Amino acid sequence: MSSYRVDHVPEHRLSHLHLVTATVLLAALVAVGIPSFSRVDITVDGESRTLANGATATDLIKRGWVAPSGDILDTEGVVVVQGRGASVRIMRGGARLRPQDRLADGDRIITLKGPDIVETEVTEDLPIPIRVEFQGKGPLMALVSPGSVGIERQVKGEYSGRVETTTVLLEAQPMVIKRFSPSNGSKVVALTFDDGPWPRYTEEVLAVLAKEQVKATFFMVGRQVYRYPTLVKRIRDEGHALGNHTQGHAYLSKATPEAVRAQIADGQTAIQKTAGVKAGWFRPPGGIMTPIVGREVSRYGLRVAMWTVDPQDWRRPPVTAIVQRVITSVKPGAVVLMHDGGGERANTVEALGPIIRELKKQGYTFVTLDELAH
Ligand SMILES: [Zn+2]
Repeated sequence: MSSYRVDHVPEHRLSHLHLVTATVLLAALVAVGIPSFSRVDITVDGESRTLANGATATDLIKRGWVAPSGDILDTEGVVVVQGRGASVRIMRGGARLRPQDRLADGDRIITLKGPDIVETEVTEDLPIPIRVEFQGKGPLMALVSPGSVGIERQVKGEYSGRVETTTVLLEAQPMVIKRFSPSNGSKVVALTFDDGPWPRYTEEVLAVLAKEQVKATFFMVGRQVYRYPTLVKRIRDEGHALGNHTQGHAYLSKATPEAVRAQIADGQTAIQKTAGVKAGWFRPPGGIMTPIVGREVSRYGLRVAMWTVDPQDWRRPPVTAIVQRVITSVKPGAVVLMHDGGGERANTVEALGPIIRELKKQGYTFVTLDELAH
């Protein structure tokens, strides 16, 4: 057998024949284009595209050759977040490719925009604030019921924040404050002085009150109490009633709950520390009463006093105007608002004697708020 192969097909001739065949084949291949050994030629949505051999559906997304992802819509179909919906559909021959699926030479790929998604609903429970309900009329206030916060459930779009439904889970209960005048018709009047103690004017007011043997109520600012402790002790020693007018004369409607707490607590501490006695009354600057103020004053057992007569003395009108305004407005059980502090108060001081003497003439007696509301 071996002699046959050696005789008829010599080894060196066979090799030569193979080489020729391979060369002819290679030339033919170059002429028609190299097929799938190193790259794939495909169409994507009708466009001719070329990718390296082994490319997958993910490569089409990386190149940006596909339709966009879907959007997130609110429940009315408005786009709220673009491109965050379902991802693109990459189709080959009616079947959807998975990201890792390889592309083959000659593939005709169709891409479809990802479906839109309607946003998820989220639920949030929010407090319903307490509102104040006043009953009756008069300068003094008493807390009838503290009220309670309610709860409201909101269902809203996760992205749009669009409120779909609102359900009250728990109704808020109002804070009920009774306003009253303690007067039984007897001719009594309570003079009140705000915003002190203040050098010079507090002393002058005290001097007039002492001379006329009249007791009044002083609504003091905590900051001033610390500055002028001697005046505070004098007010106490001369038999006047003490009131808290906050630590820094803050308008409490705009203050945060924490600030309201601090204003009332610090004002209370200032008076307690300096005078050695508790203030029994509270008057909010500007007469602003809110649920938080109501809750905080009841915590300290403070009674709240507004006023029935306001001569606007802080605007510094002439002395005669202050006297006239007070005299013509006072009725039995009146609470008169004046100022010994907060600025220049010479006209208030000058009006005080004539006011007291005229009211005495009319048969009035002067009381502190403690005496008025005992
Ligand atoms: Zn004030």
